[in-house]
Amino acid sequence: MIPSKEGCLSLEDGDVTTRKRHQTIALRSFNPARQLTQEYFNDSAAVVVQHEMDHLDGRMCNDRENLSDLSQENKSKKQT
Ligand SMILES: [Zn+2]
Repeated sequence: MIPSKEGCLSLEDGDVTTRKRHQTIALRSFNPARQLTQEYFNDSAAVVVQHEMDHLDGRMCNDRENLSDLSQENKSKKQT
């Protein structure tokens, strides 16, 4: 997981939040010919795909549930 500072054009205030994202992802989808395809994304491309997939699932980058994993990591860093 890597930290990702993200803004969103769907947010009026232009808020930027930091959250954790996978550095490498595999995305499976169907192409127009209805064939299953799989693509791999790394680094910033992987972050963008995860951000947009969250939107398809009805989540925003500043949703409290998305930030909880990051705050848990910050708490454990302070304890060590
Ligand atoms: Zn967005």
